[in-house]
Parts: sequence; C-alpha cells; structure tokens
Amino acid sequence: MKLELNEAQKWIELFVEKLEANKSELNELDTAIGDGDHGTNMDRGAKAITESFAKKAPENVSDLYKATAFAMIQKVGGASGPLYGTAFLDMSKAVKSENIELADLIQIGADGIKRRGESDIKMKTMIDVWQPIADAMKQDNFDKSVVEDALDSTKDMVATKGRASYLEEKSKGHLDPGSQSSAYLFESLVDVLGENS
Ligand code: ADP
Ligand code: MG
Repeated sequence: MKLELNEAQKWIELFVEKLEANKSELNELDTAIGDGDHGTNMDRGAKAITESFAKKAPENVSDLYKATAFAMIQKVGGASGPLYGTAFLDMSKAVKSENIELADLIQIGADGIKRRGESDIKMKTMIDVWQPIADAMKQDNFDKSVVEDALDSTKDMVATKGRASYLEEKSKGHLDPGSQSSAYLFESLVDVLGENS
C-alpha cells in the first residue's frame, strides 16, 4: 500500500486539525508529567505546516513530508519538534524509492525517532505508539483500535526517557503526551485509508 500525494496531504491536514482542536488536552497531559507545553508546541507546528503548504504546494509526497519535517523542526521546539522532524525527514528521503510500502515508511519514521531520541519501546514515549503501529501495518491489521491500545499502553509505563523520566515511578498512571499527539497522527491516517476502502 502507498499513499498518493492527495492522500498524504489529506493525512497531514487531518493531523493539523486534530492538533489544533486538542491543544489544551495535550497541554494538560504534559502538565501531569512534563512542563505543560506539548499542546502549545504542536499547535505552533500545525500552523507552520498549514502556512508552508499555502506558500508552496508540495509537488510530490517526498516534498510534502519534507515541508512537514521543516515546520516541525523550526516551530515545535521542545523534545518533540526534532523527533517528529527527524521522522518526517527520513520518510521524505525513503519515499523517493518508488516501491516503498507504507508499513516500511512508518518503520523508517519510528527508527528515526529512536535514533534521534536514543529511545526504544517501553520508555513511555511516542515510540510506544509508532512501533506498534508499524508492526500492525506490516501484518495488515492497522485500525483505530491498534492506535487506542498503543496509546493506552503508555499509561502504566514508568518513563525512562524525556522530561517525564524525572518523575520516575510517579510518571505511572498518566498517558504520555507525545504518544497522544502521535495517536492523532495515526488516527488521521486510518481516516484517510478508510476513505479508500
Ligand atoms: P519537552 O519535553 O521538551 O517539553 P514536548 O512536551 O513537546 O517537549 O514533548 C514531550 C514528548 O516528547 C514526550 O511525551 C515523549 O513522547 C516525547 N519524547 C521526549 N523525549 C523523547 C525521546 N528521547 N525519544 C522519543 N520521544 C521522546
Ligand atoms: Mg513539554
């Protein structure tokens, strides 16, 4: 499975909408186990993506992911900006090869986050959403319940990376904010894929 330019653009536009609509929810999650800015950070990135697409319409999928990456890197800030930025930049490069499957593309994004963040699964970060989704896609059983379960799994984890790790055991019992924003990304993808089936 692959996304055409119009589908990929729809995917990112839906993500932007969800980030803007849920800014305070993301801030609240980050207030519990971080510094309360994840919603504000991602909302800034969302607006930068919209501006970038309006200024210069992406000509192909690689362009689209690159513009998304740059908006994230330049405007989101925090830990999450460079991490989302790396994921989309690596995806932008990978998608230039014609035969790349969507599942492999998401894995490349997840690997970029792991590399940049020196992180892996079970550390209560966005990887705990990206990796299970890449796995589900490879097995062809990706849907909203996979996204929901992955997000929920972060609740009982103790954070060992990022700001939440300072809380040690006290980070337990809260959803990870970056996993929630990543869940918006992948719910948006389910919506786009659903329109085709
Ligand atoms: P900051 O922590 O700098 O305030 P944000 O609040 O925007 O940045 O983003 C926090 C989110 O970033 C966390 O919820 C987590 O999902 C993600 N994150 C932080 N550090 C890492 C890391 N090393 N690897 C993967 N994800 C990380
Ligand atoms: Mg924060």
